Amino acid sequence: MHADVLVVGAGSAGCVLAERLSADPECRVVVVESGPGPSDPRVMAQISDGLRLPIGDASSVVRRYRTTLTDHPPRSTTIMRGAVVGGSGAVNGGYFCRGLPEDFDAWQLPGWSWDDVLPHFRAIETDRDVDGPLHGTDGPMLIRRVHEFEVGARAFVDAARELGYPWLEDLNGSSPGAPLEPGVGAVPLNIDRGTRVGPGGAFLGPAAGRQNLRVLDRTDVTRLRIERGRVVGAECRGPDGDVLVTADRIALCAGAIGSAHLLMLSGVGPARTLTDAGVPVVADLPVGTRCADHPELVLPVDWPAAPGRPPLEAVLVTEDGLEIRPYTTGFGAMTGGPGDDPEDRPHLGVTLMRPRARGVITIVSADPAVPPLIEHRYDAEPADVALLEAGAELAHDLAGTGYTARQSFWSTSQHLCGSAPMGLDDDAVLDPQCRVRGVEGLWVVDGSVMPSITGRGPHATIVMIGHRAAEFVSR
Ligand SMILES: Cc1cc2nc3c(=O)[nH]c(=O)nc-3n(C[C@H](O)[C@H](O)[C@H](O)COP(=O)(O)OP(=O)(O)OC[C@H]3O[C@@H](n4cnc5c(N)ncnc54)[C@H](O)[C@@H]3O)c2cc1C
Repeated sequence: MHADVLVVGAGSAGCVLAERLSADPECRVVVVESGPGPSDPRVMAQISDGLRLPIGDASSVVRRYRTTLTDHPPRSTTIMRGAVVGGSGAVNGGYFCRGLPEDFDAWQLPGWSWDDVLPHFRAIETDRDVDGPLHGTDGPMLIRRVHEFEVGARAFVDAARELGYPWLEDLNGSSPGAPLEPGVGAVPLNIDRGTRVGPGGAFLGPAAGRQNLRVLDRTDVTRLRIERGRVVGAECRGPDGDVLVTADRIALCAGAIGSAHLLMLSGVGPARTLTDAGVPVVADLPVGTRCADHPELVLPVDWPAAPGRPPLEAVLVTEDGLEIRPYTTGFGAMTGGPGDDPEDRPHLGVTLMRPRARGVITIVSADPAVPPLIEHRYDAEPADVALLEAGAELAHDLAGTGYTARQSFWSTSQHLCGSAPMGLDDDAVLDPQCRVRGVEGLWVVDGSVMPSITGRGPHATIVMIGHRAAEFVSR
């Protein structure tokens, strides 16, 4: 099988990229996705319910990885990534806040300033609540906010207002001329009256009938074939056995873990690490060496649980770069459990949005079935820990009148990104057009590419990246 462009991974960015590229009928696009497609009703039922995250024990649409969140003491946990058409965007919490203008301007990359990315943020969305020059009116991602908060979110918003934080009308309303101040506001959600509007259904689904687009689901790419400095194809393992897909261009959209792992399995990564794992080196690049995530301390609260509501209706943004989140239920109920466990409390999440600490993804074996080693290293920077602990103190005051928050514990936002960052110097894996340095015909287009993590959750930014980068891959 041959493609003009092979897209590896139908996740948040991959679905958008495949739709954009296949809009040109002359471009034959093949998408290879590990997980199942939405034609299976059991899959559809899991990914369309926007009020739950289908990541619990019964989920058939995630891949699980072990990670160490902190080193002193070591705290290990399991993280999930969507493994389904739609990717992590098909299983996530529906919070759809754009990165801020200062995030993109700090990247200092040609083609990625706020003025460059704003048209793409507009193009991907239809904001049902807010219009004006910052917002889209006909993009596939429908965005709404909750207007009548449930009990816990209401208590939280009232407490924040009493502490002096202003109400923010539009958390996606920041612009260089009028940057958003600290404050509390309703979360822009890609949840339309209870239904998740994910990139799979919004972008790839409507394109599925195109003659020049083929999606191979339940198929893993196990390694890229790179010959004389040019990528020529991908070795795949699907329901009918092994298959080689050759391609003129390949875009890795397998997510921050998947794309980094595939690069390293194919000989693109830190030379020493590859050699230790038994992988011949093709290009010595710092893949996986400075990843980022949003560390989170979680405090259970005695608000009444509110199942049947979006997981997160409002957030507070502080002057110290914290985002404080009043989750509407406990993790068990949120991820599909029965919701009858009295210990499964709604909770506050205290999240550091511009952490200094960097994590690492390391290949440990040339066997694609062996997962990479993931280390978040959240406690590597004392300043990060101090900010989070101060935020947890503040969170006790945000539980609201008559409610109490318990002792905090470490968790993660599941926002890992930056494993193959763009840049202009030798620290970068990609050039500013998402091309892998030193390998012809190979791009990475997903959360891996971010040079630094955005000051908001990454999903809206990653969907935008899929839209923005189509221009780079189509040339
Ligand atoms: C549980 C959870 C909740 C989250 N909640 C939010 C939220 O509310 N708001 C927010 O902003 N962010 C949230 N995030 C983060 C956000 O959803 C992700 O950062 C984003 O979706 C990642 O997009 P991506 O395109 O980089 O990768 P993904 O969407 O993860 O897509 C990668 C795709 O590649 C496929 N793949 C991987 N390896 C291979 C391979 N070898 N061969 C073939 N296919 C492969 C995977 O199956 C997957 O479909 C959440 C993440 C998780 C996991």
